[in-house]
Amino acid sequence: MSDYCPVHLPTAALFPVPSRTMPVSDEIVICGLDGVLALLEHRLRFLYNEEGERDWDRFHAACGEDMPNLPLIHRLNQARQEGVAVILVTGRSATVERETRDWLARWGVGHDALWMRPPGDFNPAAKYKGALIEQHYAGRKIRRVYESAQHLDVARWCTERSIPCTLFGPNQGNGATREIFDLKRVAHACEHVTLYPFYGDDDYAWDDRAGQLAQGACLLCADDEARAEREQKAAEAKLAARERGLPPLEGSEKQVAWAEGVRLSAFSAIDKVNRWIEQNDAAAEAEDPDHWHTVKQGIRKATAWLEEQTEAKWWIDHRHGIMNSLDGGRALLSAVAEREGFF
Ligand SMILES: [Zn+2]
Repeated sequence: MSDYCPVHLPTAALFPVPSRTMPVSDEIVICGLDGVLALLEHRLRFLYNEEGERDWDRFHAACGEDMPNLPLIHRLNQARQEGVAVILVTGRSATVERETRDWLARWGVGHDALWMRPPGDFNPAAKYKGALIEQHYAGRKIRRVYESAQHLDVARWCTERSIPCTLFGPNQGNGATREIFDLKRVAHACEHVTLYPFYGDDDYAWDDRAGQLAQGACLLCADDEARAEREQKAAEAKLAARERGLPPLEGSEKQVAWAEGVRLSAFSAIDKVNRWIEQNDAAAEAEDPDHWHTVKQGIRKATAWLEEQTEAKWWIDHRHGIMNSLDGGRALLSAVAEREGFF
């Protein structure tokens, strides 16, 4: 591990790097890279695309093109001048250490250590970073942790230890609009107080924005609420499935919770189809009895076939073709009936 942590001072920086003064305190600042110091929106396409492929190698390899969060770099360099050690801890793979060091040098990011994730370590961010900090910086006073809002688990880890943590959301401007930067204290409705990063030239709007943020919960409480809501919806869907006599779903806990909602909306759509059949039964029967019997039989068989789909994964894979409406129900049943030869 120590291979990844030599002290490094950029030499050929575009931006002046303050010379390291003698440490006057035992304090450290811990800062992430991706989505914090390095703006990575341009390479998210390697992880989130229509093909559903996650190409981590290409995602990491493109890190040299990231735009820098200049105001935060400035702030870190100021902290170093005050004698606070700046420790960079990133989940980025150490396979791109060379590119990362070049990038840090190019943008003048002064730092006292760079820790990169060893290849083959797939632990969640908080587990990887928490263990590293506890192993190497136990007893040091952590002035602040700067982290991406993607990693709420790191924020929770900090909160449990009363370590101040500032989260950076995606798309917080680009290089041009990031000249002004400040952390503003926001007292949230949940009674938590956070320091939010604010950017841009239109600082007259900051007070309004801070006021809006204060009316809502902090990111961690908002996440707790959203999770509770998801769990309640999943529980309701599970109950509805049981009342309907549908068999239990198979898969991981997370898959089953997700699939229950998808299946529930499929069968709500099928209910709408059945009501439509009742309403049109007499007229359709009079018009073309043979055709109508074929339609009704196809729908019955397709419904029974869907009832037998107990793999959570099947419902998740087909979620885009399921809509809780009469048309959605007809489309789903027709697709199943045609594929299985029920018509
Ligand atoms: Zn809160």
